[in-house]
Amino acid sequence: MKAKLVEIFKSIQGEGLYQGQEQVFVRFYGCNLKCSFCDTKSLFYTKEDLFCIMEKINDLGDFHSVSLTGGEPLLQIEFLKQLAKTLKENKRKVYLETNGVLYQNLREIIDFIDIISMDFKLPTSTNVKILWKEHSKFLKIALKKEVFVKAVIGLNTSEQDLIECIHIIKKIKSDLFFVLQPQNPYEKQLKSKMEIFEKICQQHKINVKIMFQLHKKLGIR
Ligand code: SF4
Repeated sequence: MKAKLVEIFKSIQGEGLYQGQEQVFVRFYGCNLKCSFCDTKSLFYTKEDLFCIMEKINDLGDFHSVSLTGGEPLLQIEFLKQLAKTLKENKRKVYLETNGVLYQNLREIIDFIDIISMDFKLPTSTNVKILWKEHSKFLKIALKKEVFVKAVIGLNTSEQDLIECIHIIKKIKSDLFFVLQPQNPYEKQLKSKMEIFEKICQQHKINVKIMFQLHKKLGIR
C-alpha cells in the first residue's frame, strides 16, 4: 500500500498549543474541503510506501513528535492507520492536524494518536458549508486523547460563527483550549476584532488564546 504525499520535512510547529516544538511533518496530499484561505494546496504528490516513509522519519533524528498533516490526512485512512500504528511501535509521539470533519475515520485511528489539533471551519472564514454537526461528532471522539481546537479569524468572520464554536466547546468539554488565529496578523482592523472575539470567549469562560502562525513570522516552512 502506498500513500500520496506532498513532502516530509523537519521544522518547528507554527500553530496552536505546541507552537515552537520540533516536529517531523508528513504532509498528505488532498483535502475534502476548499477553504478560501488555504495555503497548502498542491498539485504534486509522490507515492510512497510505509518502509520508505519510516526510513525518512528515522533519518531525521530526535524531535518532539510526528505531525500527520495535509491537506486532510484522514482522507487516506487505510494508510494512515498503518503509519500511525508503526510510529507508536517505534515509540514516536503522533500528532494529528485535521479539519475535524471525517469523524468516522478518526474513530478507526484514535488509538494510535497522542495529540489532536482540530480546526473549526467557520463558514464566514472559509466559505465552506456549515460543518457544526461534523465538528461536534469529531470532537466527542477526539476527547479520548489530548485535543485542542483552533479557528482562523478573518475580517469577514462573524460573531455568530464564534458563538457556535463556543456552544460546541461548552457542550462537549468546557475547559478545552480554543486558539484564535488571525488570518493576517498585520491587518489593523483584524487586531481589534481579535480582541473583541477574545473578550467574548472570556465572558463565556472559554480557555482562549490568540496565536499567530510562528513559522510564517520567522519565514520558515
Ligand atoms: S481544510 Fe486545510 S488543507 Fe483543506 S482546504 Fe481547508 S485549509 Fe486547505
